[in-house]
Amino acid sequence: MSITVKALQKTGPDQPFRVTTIERRDPRPDDVVIDIKAAGICHSDIHTIRNEWGEAHFPLTVGHEIAGIVEAVGENVTGWTVGDRVGVGCLVDSCGQCEECRADQEQNCLQGNVGTYNATDVDGTITQGGYAQKVVVNERFVCRIPDAMAFDAAAPLLCAGITTYAPLARWGADQAKDGAPKKVAVLGLGGLGHMGVQIAAAMGADVTVLSRSRKKEQLAIELGAQQMLATTEDGFFQDHRGQFDLILNTISADIPVDSYLGLLKPRGVMAVVGLPPENQSLSFGSVIGGGKVLAGSNIGGIAETQEMLDFCAEHGIAAQIETIGVDEADATYDRVVAGEVFFRAVIDTATFEDAEVA
Ligand code: NAP
Ligand code: ZN
Repeated sequence: MSITVKALQKTGPDQPFRVTTIERRDPRPDDVVIDIKAAGICHSDIHTIRNEWGEAHFPLTVGHEIAGIVEAVGENVTGWTVGDRVGVGCLVDSCGQCEECRADQEQNCLQGNVGTYNATDVDGTITQGGYAQKVVVNERFVCRIPDAMAFDAAAPLLCAGITTYAPLARWGADQAKDGAPKKVAVLGLGGLGHMGVQIAAAMGADVTVLSRSRKKEQLAIELGAQQMLATTEDGFFQDHRGQFDLILNTISADIPVDSYLGLLKPRGVMAVVGLPPENQSLSFGSVIGGGKVLAGSNIGGIAETQEMLDFCAEHGIAAQIETIGVDEADATYDRVVAGEVFFRAVIDTATFEDAEVA
């Protein structure tokens, strides 16, 4: 017997969201049932459901920034009890046996991990995401939300938080260089970017935000940046050549990759997390000169996601959010793409209650 819940669904890339009901599986012995309180809107949800990355399986419910309360647990669950405050991010299963899973890198599972939505689950069904009232997840893919964090401000950490924390930690944003803090540039001040700024600053880095305009300058400083630079100003790429040890690239659209690589110091690193739909071009000369590194990063493992949540709690960091109702998702998507949301929109799932099912 499955669990019927209300969810936001699209039946095609150009269709509006509608409130409908979807079925969650009856919990298996190692599953937890989570009563979802808040679900963040990640730009990956938008790329996916607008079919910008291709291969969207409709009808589809997206959402992989999930925060809520454990409502029931399967008989073999050991880590969670009813009432626990928990989160689920981009992953809901993996083989658990391979080298990557054993190294807590479930995002790289050699058998292929199971994404929270639009992925083929172990039982052959297509996973449905967190814009819903409840979700049923294997207990290994659940994280604890620190008590001090509100559900809506915590939800975005499950993707935007870990996606920025992991490469900042991997590439040593916390390590001084020649006795001075690392010079870290965060490219793009959206959902990911605003978490990246806060986390890099908490790690002790000297943070610069690179944005298209200076519109968000005051907000960037409040998040912990030392400065903001506008990439569209005359002479920008020339004036700031060779300045940064690490660039965290969160941009969701096409960029002049070679020009941005020119902003790195010799041996500097550009960690790419933004995934625009189109292929980007690159001249190898841009990394050969100065022996630079162009690195990718894909979310993070579950243990590191918990580490990130605890780090954020310890440093008083959370997402800066705008809460929306289920009837505002379409309009909010347009506003995210237009750069008008500061900095993450989060769906208040309590608004499902009064929503009529289409
Ligand atoms: P977002 O909130 O929309 O932020 C994206 C930022 O990119 C914008 O705020 C904007 O920064 C910049 N931008 C947008 N269009 C641009 C353009 N045409 N030229 C230059 N800059 C532009 O999106 P998000 O949720 O942070 O996600 C960002 C990207 O990361 C998406 O592609 C998403 O799919 C990807 N992502 C990857 C992972 C991973 O594991 N690697 C995880 C989550 C998301 P300014 O307004 O400051 O210029
Ligand atoms: Zn995401």
